Amino acid sequence: MTPPTGYKTKRVGGKIHCCRDEPTATYIQNALEGFADNRFLNQKDVYNYLKRYKLIGYHGKPVSVTLGFVKNMLTNEKYTGYFPYENWDVPYQKWAMDEIISREIFQKIQDKLKGKKSVLKPRKYNMDDEDFPFRRWLRCDACGRNLTGSNSKNRSGKRYSYYHCHNKECSNYGKSIRQHDLHTDFERLLNSITPPSGLVNLANAIIQNKINSESKQWKEDMKSRQEDIKKKQAEKQKCFNLLLNSSDEPEITKMCKSKIVELDAEISRLSDAKEKKEISFTESTAKKLERTLEFVRNPTLIWKVGNYKQRRAVLNLCFSEPISYDKDKKFGTPKLSSIFKVFNSFSIENTEWWAR
Ligand SMILES: [Zn+2]
Repeated sequence: MTPPTGYKTKRVGGKIHCCRDEPTATYIQNALEGFADNRFLNQKDVYNYLKRYKLIGYHGKPVSVTLGFVKNMLTNEKYTGYFPYENWDVPYQKWAMDEIISREIFQKIQDKLKGKKSVLKPRKYNMDDEDFPFRRWLRCDACGRNLTGSNSKNRSGKRYSYYHCHNKECSNYGKSIRQHDLHTDFERLLNSITPPSGLVNLANAIIQNKINSESKQWKEDMKSRQEDIKKKQAEKQKCFNLLLNSSDEPEITKMCKSKIVELDAEISRLSDAKEKKEISFTESTAKKLERTLEFVRNPTLIWKVGNYKQRRAVLNLCFSEPISYDKDKKFGTPKLSSIFKVFNSFSIENTEWWAR
């Protein structure tokens, strides 16, 4: 099976896993979600959107975007991470694949393609939000109120976008910040908080190591539990045989019956414990952490290619609280989220330690 465009394969804890291949995965996600929520009304709109970007296929070569490509993409269930594999008669199930879209979004797309009315109601879509990802988040440095974003036209009719503080008491009132300048400054800020890749590789190696040792420990535990269960089952079988052969000896019959009840309880206790252990196994947690590291490696990229929702996620993943901005002073010293704080404490304050 060849994974669809937007994926690459990677070893996670000794197993092959299909991971999102950025930025292609995000372009595909935006295209699919945009079609589902009617930001893109039809397949041609999706095509026009994707045409703007360079998509890299699974084999590392650029993919040519055609209407046929769009159609295949919209009906490709693999993007949910769940699908049947008919070639091998394998039923519908979750695979070791990152999800690019949820199963709900996939269903919405299929309904829309089939022309089901319910999904064709145009969703209220605020284009302004796309233009102003900082709205209700970025604060005016002088007064601390949230900055507002607006679109306007200059004398020659050209549209321009800017942010401004609308607190009449503020010294910044009436001064506008060009959207483009602010966004450029922000990209610079993101670049400055991105940890060196060597450091992220090290963290990744530590995590991989932990997954491997935990996975080994887990397998051993499972094996010994399975053996215990087998032993108890064999004992139970012996009692049962004895019971069958001693129907006229009430003492033995009584003893066998009580032993069987006791063994049954133990078997179910062991099976329960085994199940719990399977659920709590940390592999999925480790996978989530690994995806976070993938983000930490290059938040600027996700910021650049992302839509409004993804950009807001970047803000929340990078900073622990809204930050303030001033045309001249820029961002000051923003409070980083805990994951970036950890990396930055190594890479900035302890450069000497790190350089050794
Ligand atoms: Zn202000």
